Amino acid sequence: MAIQDIYPTALRLLGRPVLVVGGGPVATRRAKGLLDAGARVTVVAPVASAALTELADAGLLTWERRAYVSSDVDGVWFVQTATGTPAVDSQVAADAEAQRVWCVNASDHEASAAWTPAVAVVDDVQIAVNAGGDPRRAMALRDAVATALETGDLPLRRRRKSGASAGSANGSVALVGGGPGDTGLITVRGRRLLGQADVVVADRLGPRGLLNELAPDVRIIEVGKTPGHHPVPQAEINRILVAEALAGNRVVRLKGGDPYVLGRGGEEAEYCRQHGVEVEVVSGVTSAISVPAAAGIPVTHRGLAKGFSVVTGHEELSEVPARPDHTVVLLMGVSQLRQSAAALAGAGLPLGTPVGIVENGYLPNQRVTIGTLGSIADQAEATGVANPAVIVIGDVVRVSPFAPSHFKIADYSTTAPNSPRVPAPNTPVLTP
Ligand code: SAH
Repeated sequence: MAIQDIYPTALRLLGRPVLVVGGGPVATRRAKGLLDAGARVTVVAPVASAALTELADAGLLTWERRAYVSSDVDGVWFVQTATGTPAVDSQVAADAEAQRVWCVNASDHEASAAWTPAVAVVDDVQIAVNAGGDPRRAMALRDAVATALETGDLPLRRRRKSGASAGSANGSVALVGGGPGDTGLITVRGRRLLGQADVVVADRLGPRGLLNELAPDVRIIEVGKTPGHHPVPQAEINRILVAEALAGNRVVRLKGGDPYVLGRGGEEAEYCRQHGVEVEVVSGVTSAISVPAAAGIPVTHRGLAKGFSVVTGHEELSEVPARPDHTVVLLMGVSQLRQSAAALAGAGLPLGTPVGIVENGYLPNQRVTIGTLGSIADQAEATGVANPAVIVIGDVVRVSPFAPSHFKIADYSTTAPNSPRVPAPNTPVLTP
């Protein structure tokens, strides 16, 4: 049968009686699909699967425990026959045809009056695939389309604003952790929400490359500090999120790293909720862990460090264990690096403790500077180290492929995954 001879449509079976003949795996699957669509399902079969029996026992469908008779087709809107016996299926199909009731005949695809496509649902989108009478091919295609929708590779974004018919007059806000900047380090969920956004409220850090892939009519509101522009104050960001959502937009607040790691995500979520706006928070890959990794530095490592602390500067350092085997990660720490190093030294951390600074992690201009607690402030000043940078203090820095050879205490061979990220040949990597 030519695919052109098929007329695709969607049936609304809610509350309507339908008939399933047969009790095996195909009948079970179809009965469940019909129940999901809200149909009133009657199964006719002398024997039925455990799943069908359970549904019947629970009162969700009616099971007539007997052989099929032609009058079973009377008064139903739709018939599925899957008895496993072609002669019976043909009889059911013929009875349905005589009554002008649409029937899917599982044992004779070519003769079947109706076909059941391979179906997937992603959010409020349903995909139904008919593929030239090859069900496995249809399923493979269905799966590929569903995956592409889930990962945000297809334009899932609504073109019609939600209104009374969509159940809500309001839009929503998603606080999406975008990761440290590489477009591959956002979560699948975050990417998908970004693909559905009407408005994106963007930071300076994070996977900015994804902004170029948004549809032209998606509004991008920049709230991060960019050259020549002051950052938008937090209160104003909160206000924008709520106002855009209340105007019916799906808003993605695209943040660098993880929304809840020194990112004020909690405040944004709280403000939205206080103003009646639905919020979803999507975790992200925090720069505190991933940016050191971009320089081959694990924040914990067997034999070197069992734990780590993430802080912003010298004030919190008094709370942190001052030992080379407890890794300290400083975010936003460049301007206070000298005071922070002094605070740790004052707390007893040896001056020879290795320190790594990774600027612009995962970006083309990534630069790694490695020194010691005693030397790092001078080195950073000399090479003009600037934010964004993550500073890592502790013995784990020895593992970095960028560490000078006299720092290395063993070959931990962690270089392979990061080998494409070596700094440019002219990158100054000072040693103490
Ligand atoms: N919520 C974010 C952190 C925000 S604070 C997260 O979880 O990653 C901003 C600081 O993050 C910067 O000052 C810098 O210390 C760090 N940072 C974020 N992205 C970075 C990157 N690509 N390279 C280096 N540092 C980065």
